[in-house]
Amino acid sequence: MATVKRSVCPLDCPDTCSLSVTVENDQVTAVRGSDANPLTHGAVCAKVTNYYPEFVHGANRLRHPLKRIGAKGEGKFARISWDEALGLIHDRVRGVIAKHGPQAVLPLNYAGPHGMLAGDSMSLRFFHRLGASLLSRRPLCGGVRGEAYAGTFGATPGTPLQQVSLSKLIIVWGNNATACNLHLMRHINVAKRAGAKLVVIDPKRVKVAEQAHLHLAVLPGTDVVLAWALAVELERLGAIDQAFVQQHVLGFESFMKSAREYPPEVAAGICGVTAEEIRTLARWYHEASPAVIAWGNGLERNQNGGSGLRAIAALPALAGKFGVSGGGLVGGAGNAFPKTGDALARPDLVPPGTRTLNIIDVAGAILDDKLDPPLKALFIYNHNPVIVHPDQNRMKRALAREDVFVVGIEVAMTDSMAYADVVLPACTHFEHADVYAAYGQQYLQRADAVIPPVGESLPNTEIFRRLALRFGYDDAAFKADDPALMDAALDRADPRMKGLRPSELPTDSALRMEYGGEEPVLFGNVLPRTPSGKIELESAVLGARYGSPLPTFRPVTSAFALTLITPASDKRTTSTFGGLAANDATPALEMHPDDAKARGLLQGAWVKVWNDLGEVHLPLEITDAIRRGVVCSEKGAWFKTSRNGQTVSALAPTHKADLSEGACYNDARVEVAAL
Ligand code: SF4
Repeated sequence: MATVKRSVCPLDCPDTCSLSVTVENDQVTAVRGSDANPLTHGAVCAKVTNYYPEFVHGANRLRHPLKRIGAKGEGKFARISWDEALGLIHDRVRGVIAKHGPQAVLPLNYAGPHGMLAGDSMSLRFFHRLGASLLSRRPLCGGVRGEAYAGTFGATPGTPLQQVSLSKLIIVWGNNATACNLHLMRHINVAKRAGAKLVVIDPKRVKVAEQAHLHLAVLPGTDVVLAWALAVELERLGAIDQAFVQQHVLGFESFMKSAREYPPEVAAGICGVTAEEIRTLARWYHEASPAVIAWGNGLERNQNGGSGLRAIAALPALAGKFGVSGGGLVGGAGNAFPKTGDALARPDLVPPGTRTLNIIDVAGAILDDKLDPPLKALFIYNHNPVIVHPDQNRMKRALAREDVFVVGIEVAMTDSMAYADVVLPACTHFEHADVYAAYGQQYLQRADAVIPPVGESLPNTEIFRRLALRFGYDDAAFKADDPALMDAALDRADPRMKGLRPSELPTDSALRMEYGGEEPVLFGNVLPRTPSGKIELESAVLGARYGSPLPTFRPVTSAFALTLITPASDKRTTSTFGGLAANDATPALEMHPDDAKARGLLQGAWVKVWNDLGEVHLPLEITDAIRRGVVCSEKGAWFKTSRNGQTVSALAPTHKADLSEGACYNDARVEVAAL
């Protein structure tokens, strides 16, 4: 008999929807939206409804521990028992530690599930106790935006997504909202019906841009220049809120000194938009109140990403857009939750002097024979590095090393798992309880398991509990059960928890994070939490950390003429759902008709896209939705979609963004020719 149960979407997406899951005979047969979370309000994306049942129960699901019996990357495995798998891992890792020390071991975890337990909890305790090298908490993506926000406003929440409904002007900047911030669309539509204007800034005429009053097809990586030009034009219009700036803004003069180098006429040439478009947007922004900016992930994936985000964050401060519901900047949602951090991860277990490696550098570190100590054991979990990391071919070479022992912990047989020596089957979030603090909205949620573990799979927490036991760690930190981990993850005493124990949060509703009983409004009921207590356009903290207290601009130089952008697909969340039968079409390469004509390329033809790092073969889609000089293809496709064993990550450079050492996917420069 079918029953409908409640859950929460754990995918790497800002929305964190509440779900209704139909279960028959312990099988997930359908996934829909639920109204438990008022923000997501019963709506979910097609990815989840189309692919989740196959993801949980399909042929690609990992059900048993496996041992590699073929070459690395070949994907040939034999089934083994949990006991044998844990024993093998223990013996091989102990051998590595005996020869090279514990820092020769590295966890390679990223953004698979966003539940606080499955994400990283018992796993971190295990690696901290082991003395493994630390993976920097700075992620491939997302970290740049977080650092830019925190540097400007501190750890305070920004405008909640639902307040967009109240805005009179909405600027969607670098945010392909229909594909990767679905619920923003509902609030944009409400606001538009009430007469709001919509402006979209994106190199591509993405779906949300089709309904915009103004679309600025900015060149990737030049957002900082565009934001500076808007600041200059606001100043020319007399639209700077001098009283607000004087009282609440630090670094106004130094910020404007940089900005004044880029008036609209100068910026237009750099950004690939017209000066008139910049002036129009500045005027609209000045005139509208409330006016809100909803930025997205697209902004950060370049070497000027942090500067672009900081300069954009400055605009509502300059124009006096804070202090009202529906104004300001949709951001900083992660700051809305009373997370404890240390109580969950237990950094006190880390031996002093343990080194930290950046995630982008992992492949290079594995291949570096001079690294002391070398990396000789790797645990890959919640991550598909060969598909996701910049310079894919380097990552393939790294994982193919026979002298590096690779443990994979995963739900499905991904392209990265094919390189593992031992694969441990992990539960999906439908098979264990977890708590969810979103990064794009401000409702806290909890979900119970809706089905038992599939096959012999185990929740990440239990896998690392068993590993800890096998390694002889029997202190209390490793005996904590999942409810205890939930209670460690969030501060129950914080007023936002309303006296609720995290592990006992009701699953049929979502807890709105409130400040004095209300949603946060910056300069209403919440204030910046920077060192100065002001909005910091000039940040000593960021200056000390990254060398420049102010936003900067460095153009990318390359012999390759075209900029390749690789935004999210509406079929996968990063690479999740990539291995499914229904999802194995090769993504197209979108190119402007003028660029195609200049190269003699025809609609539908297969083309090679290449640079110094790799070559990818894709079918060509000629469309004026993408601006001249830029080509576009979706990220996250698996090797089964590829004719030559490379996907778009093979073309992404490994240099780092100006903040948070983030990945610069959109700095890929390529050339395209007929195959
Ligand atoms: S991927 Fe995003 S939009 Fe889709 S169901 Fe999950 S949280 Fe919602």
